[in-house]
Amino acid sequence: MHPVIEKLIELQELETRIRHATGRLEQLPRQIAAMEEQLGATRSLLDHQAAELDRIAAERRQLEGEIQIIEERISKYRSQLSDVKTNEQYKALLHEIDFHGERIGKMEDEILVNMEKEEGLREERLLLEQRLQQESAQVAREKQAVQEEMEETRIELDRRQGEAGALIALIAPEVYGTYRKISTLRKGVALARAKENCQGCHVRIRPSVLGQVMAGKQIVHCDSCDRFLYWDPDASIESK
Ligand SMILES: [Zn+2]
Repeated sequence: MHPVIEKLIELQELETRIRHATGRLEQLPRQIAAMEEQLGATRSLLDHQAAELDRIAAERRQLEGEIQIIEERISKYRSQLSDVKTNEQYKALLHEIDFHGERIGKMEDEILVNMEKEEGLREERLLLEQRLQQESAQVAREKQAVQEEMEETRIELDRRQGEAGALIALIAPEVYGTYRKISTLRKGVALARAKENCQGCHVRIRPSVLGQVMAGKQIVHCDSCDRFLYWDPDASIESK
């Protein structure tokens, strides 16, 4: 194989890894953001629960307050019973006492329903708090793993960029310029393996051209896609 082509293949592999690492560095912070979003959702569920509990507790306190007022009224009626002059007044007072007694009964039922709801909400809240704790711990662990990967990827990226720079320095500027142009045009694939067809664009390669590629004495481009052609009889994986 032509020595310049060897270097270009190495450069292309390096640049593929650099692109991959750069992509990871862009993607990883999004993973962290998604985890935090999930945690935020659980937290707002808990907030919602707390508000609902507050509301129900306030309702219950209000009912209890009302009952107290009605009980005071009933005891006032009772104390008036001994002072009434007529049977009608007596009956009217008893009627009021019954009426308010029934109201208290209904309100006490409401309080019971209320307390059951509170109880259920408290149990749910306990479960949610446990879930939040577990999720927080998991997010903390995953975040650390992601941050470690980012750190490693940055180091790898620096190293690969250094290697690519050193390699570019060994390639003649006009060859590198052509490589850069084709690479940009062909989505990072400036080289293609030559068989009967160019493995980059699948257009047939003339036998004389293929002969030149196999001889490896000169730099040969595909007539169709302009990629650098290389001969690799052992390659089992196509150039990507
Ligand atoms: Zn081609």
